Amino acid sequence: MICLTGDIHHDSLKINDQRFIPDGMNEIEICGKYLELLKKYNLKVTFYTTGMTFQEQWEEFKAIAEADNVEIGGHTFSGLPRKTESTDAATGLPSCSHAHSHGTYEDQEQDVQKMIGIAEEKTGKKLLTWRSHGLVKDENTEKILFVNGIRFISDELNWNKILPEKTEAGLISHPMNVLMDHDHLFHAHRTCEYVERQRKNWPFKDAPTNRSFEIDKWGRIVRAQIQAIDEMGGLATILMHPLCMYLADGFKTAEKIFEFIASLKTKCVWASETEEFLGKK
Ligand SMILES: [Zn+2]
Ligand SMILES: [Zn+2]
Repeated sequence: MICLTGDIHHDSLKINDQRFIPDGMNEIEICGKYLELLKKYNLKVTFYTTGMTFQEQWEEFKAIAEADNVEIGGHTFSGLPRKTESTDAATGLPSCSHAHSHGTYEDQEQDVQKMIGIAEEKTGKKLLTWRSHGLVKDENTEKILFVNGIRFISDELNWNKILPEKTEAGLISHPMNVLMDHDHLFHAHRTCEYVERQRKNWPFKDAPTNRSFEIDKWGRIVRAQIQAIDEMGGLATILMHPLCMYLADGFKTAEKIFEFIASLKTKCVWASETEEFLGKK
């Protein structure tokens, strides 16, 4: 079984990858093209989308949010914008695309409520699923999400957990158990130099690896992991950002992966449908 996910950001967030988008395009347009490919292979997807995308780009995003095969999840309202310069003064290399804290309990709760409010207002559907931008979380995050109605979270990086589990706060967590794309791919600003520096200050303490790969190699690893989890009767949760996939090789590898998933004849589920795998052995 497969839960395919992608994260989407508003243009004004100006994350590092967005600077590599060819002139005349933007992340939402790229996302639309990704969605066309998914439809070609009859696959469904959960798109964790920042609240500001709804606020600032609803006209262009509407068709994606309302597509039959799309579920919208929360990705924070603001996207934790950086407060400092986007270039690291010491090295001249781009700095991380997001802040590393949600601020106080109240700040975070306000952001969560704004995210939920705008998504529900625009789509008319209850927001149930969540992944924080940058996977940033603290001891308050899950509590805040739960009391505000979120029930599913996918922010753990763990290749050993092949089934969802209940967290202490009451959420259903389905870890990303397949090599995620952005932080393990050479693309956009993630040059050899950038990757080496990131490995020294690796922020994802729980990630099974801090290596990065060329897109071909990444795609082969991902396909093998998906197949192995599916054969064990698990749920493979995959993160493939539309933007990273497009910038890395114009969706060539993404399409190979979609074609591969379609060939497995396995079931695809949205994040909000992962409860059925709870407690399976
Ligand atoms: Zn993100
Ligand atoms: Zn990326």
